[in-house]
Amino acid sequence: MHVTTEAFIRDSTAAVQNKTLQSRLRVLTTFTIKRNAAFASLENGEALRDQARSIKEKTIARLDAYLTQLEENVVRLGGNVHWARTGEEARAIVLDLARKNNVKRIVKGKSMATEEIELNEALEQAGIESVETDLGEYIVQLAHEKPSHILAPAVHKSKEDVAELFAQKLDAPNLKQAEEMTAVARKRLREKFCAADMGITGANFGIAETGTIVLLENEGNIRLSTTLPRIHVALMGIEKVVPTLGDLAVFLKILARSASGQKMSSYVSFISGARRAGETDGAEEFHLIILDNGRTRLLADEEMRESLYCLRCGACLNVCPVYQKVGGHAYGTVYSGPIGSILTPAFAGLEKSKDLPFASTLCGACREICPVRIDIPRILLKLRSEWAEGDRAHRAGAPLTERLAIKLWAFAMRRRFLYSFAFRTAAFLQGPMLEDGKLKRLPFAFGGWTQNRDFPALARKSFRSMWRDEESR
Ligand code: SF4
Repeated sequence: MHVTTEAFIRDSTAAVQNKTLQSRLRVLTTFTIKRNAAFASLENGEALRDQARSIKEKTIARLDAYLTQLEENVVRLGGNVHWARTGEEARAIVLDLARKNNVKRIVKGKSMATEEIELNEALEQAGIESVETDLGEYIVQLAHEKPSHILAPAVHKSKEDVAELFAQKLDAPNLKQAEEMTAVARKRLREKFCAADMGITGANFGIAETGTIVLLENEGNIRLSTTLPRIHVALMGIEKVVPTLGDLAVFLKILARSASGQKMSSYVSFISGARRAGETDGAEEFHLIILDNGRTRLLADEEMRESLYCLRCGACLNVCPVYQKVGGHAYGTVYSGPIGSILTPAFAGLEKSKDLPFASTLCGACREICPVRIDIPRILLKLRSEWAEGDRAHRAGAPLTERLAIKLWAFAMRRRFLYSFAFRTAAFLQGPMLEDGKLKRLPFAFGGWTQNRDFPALARKSFRSMWRDEESR
């Protein structure tokens, strides 16, 4: 996974100053309003969220058993299962299948997992045409960009941006209305669907008891990608397995509501193996690639494990005050927003993504809205603490001065007299640095604290001594 999160501070500063982006990001509130209305119309919405969480807990606790059951059932239905430990292995499996089957053209349904492993880039390098068929993904692919939102990949682009892009890349000038642009894309994509040798999708769920892959969408492009080409390849993270069809029903009730405020996605496709004798549609070959790529690291960590419950609905992005201001691209990786800030350190390493756990106000809005109640703020705090202590895997961490300062602070805090002496001395010495009763610029390595904010002046008297004075009156 390519990450440029070390540029987070620079890119987020630029994003906040980008007026077009700021006006586009206002649309996120609409998602949340619709989401809230959709949940309000559910009698037992909160109970369903609890039920979904408990299904996830149960499934993740016995992931090996459910994945094996899924594999057995996919094979029983005539499909093929491949296991990929890394993104590289998953890419190699797809390339191998493409080469063996002389595949020249691929159509792709929207899939964050394929974005994660940078499949399009690998296919392009191998000389295979791979076309995104979700409208938002098609737009970002034409623009040579990455999706900026899990659900709405082109949310950062205005109608005018898309019109200009279509004029340049599709030779379709003077488009004004969204409907006209959609019609142009639809016509182009229809040609691609008819000529494709292989369709690649993700998988929202894999049902262990039946071997069925379930795909949710609104445009019909995923259904076409799975049924028109000869071969269908689905890439699924290990966490997407669900034990039974009964369990799936719970997720179907909450996923579309959380994502877009719909009661149900417009298309829900159930893929049970390849086309069988006597059937009139479906791919002739079906391959399921089950991807780890860092997920078992999350599984092994009790405190991080619940991030595997994520349904990729995008609701936490829409309510996050940081995402609402900086958008998705500033995060420098495929998973943005609150969930991205915990997944990226797990997938790419904390050293490469050290700013992301700090890109949060810890307001808790993500935890409140998450359909499976993932405690994102708690995990962010854990990652911050890991960074301060030094990332075990990479032996990196906060700068030495900062670590030393915190150690000294902790040492003094445990010794009341020392702490009180240090406090009184600092309160006495701060005088020349005070401006309007505030510390505007701290000295030495502490200067970072006051770069963008004031530091309150230290009180002349500690709370303890004020208390004592009060008691002695
Ligand atoms: S963490 Fe929760 S709210 Fe965020 S994308 Fe995942 S399921 Fe949706």
